[in-house]
Amino acid sequence: MTTAKPAPSAADPADSAEAGPAAPPLPPAAVEALFARLSAALPEPQSELAYVNPYTLLVAVVLSAQATDKGVNKATKGLFAVADTPQKMVALGEDGVRAHIRTIGLFNSKAKNVIALSQALIEQHGGQVPAERAALEALPGVGRKTANVVLNLAFGQPTIAVDTHIFRVANRTGLAAGKTVRAVEDALERVVPERYRRHAHHWLILHGRYVCKARKPACDACPIADLCGWPGKPAAGV
Ligand code: SF4
Repeated sequence: MTTAKPAPSAADPADSAEAGPAAPPLPPAAVEALFARLSAALPEPQSELAYVNPYTLLVAVVLSAQATDKGVNKATKGLFAVADTPQKMVALGEDGVRAHIRTIGLFNSKAKNVIALSQALIEQHGGQVPAERAALEALPGVGRKTANVVLNLAFGQPTIAVDTHIFRVANRTGLAAGKTVRAVEDALERVVPERYRRHAHHWLILHGRYVCKARKPACDACPIADLCGWPGKPAAGV
């Protein structure tokens, strides 16, 4: 069965506009200090998506495209209570999945993908989530970002899944500039010090979600304001 993949690596144009004028690249010492501060504030960051095993993580991430983690968690609470394995999900069927997730965006195509990827896991991987990027990206509804999240959270690999928040923070601060999601991912892989790689995407997502917000970044309360190169931030002492 062939299933449409999510659009590849295109950044949300509104978001790139909200990143504002380009910042100069951060020097390595500033990159080190930035991650030292974010990691000191939250040494073991957790995903805000609820899941109980690698399979439910994969499903939750597929469902999270163009939806909030909160909205996905609300929908998956009931779904995962009845289907936390590919076998149970296939037994539940597309209509059953749809009934649980109809509060989140694109629920029709997502229900189709959840059933198709569950079938593929049973037929091709013995019902297990594979720990390889190519195998993950071959699953229906699974793109590079989803694969990166699963490899990182379920298998401890130091991948950096660039979402809209990371795209904005990386460009705005001067940490890693790029016009596409993939360009930012590649730039982050070049500049993020090895010891921060495992949790880098979590720190940056949370920073973008709660501090360096799209329309009104909270520069006054930002722990990395002195390092950030964004020309739009208030001058120090103002
Ligand atoms: S100072 Fe902080 S909140 Fe403001 S743009 Fe820079 S990183 Fe974002």
